[in-house]
Amino acid sequence: DLGVVADVADKIAVMYAGRIVETAPVHELYANPAHPYTKGLLRSIPRLDQKGQDLYAIKGLPPNLLKVPAGCAFNPRCERATDLCRSELPQLVPVLDAEGADLPGRRSACHFWKETLHG
Ligand code: SF4
Repeated sequence: DLGVVADVADKIAVMYAGRIVETAPVHELYANPAHPYTKGLLRSIPRLDQKGQDLYAIKGLPPNLLKVPAGCAFNPRCERATDLCRSELPQLVPVLDAEGADLPGRRSACHFWKETLHG
């Protein structure tokens, strides 16, 4: 429950299919996620100003952990997935600001974290 997490945590680690896919100070992650799964989770939080509208849901289902997709496990559900995502497991790498400086505590396991962060 991301609403509860925001109240009780300073840092957050988002997991998908048994792996950490993003870490960040909690308010930075909410304001500007650097992984498409985190972005989807945040979009699916109900908001009072969207009363009466359909809730957003990430398409598809989480994978069977005995048969995790090749490459990035999130690729079958990701709107940004490419052939690279389907073949190469993204490592958890530092997330940098627009000037190339390390953002403390921020890591993302997405080949396209830059595009996700700034897109
Ligand atoms: S690595 Fe590719 S499939 Fe995985 S989250 Fe990033 S863009 Fe999506």
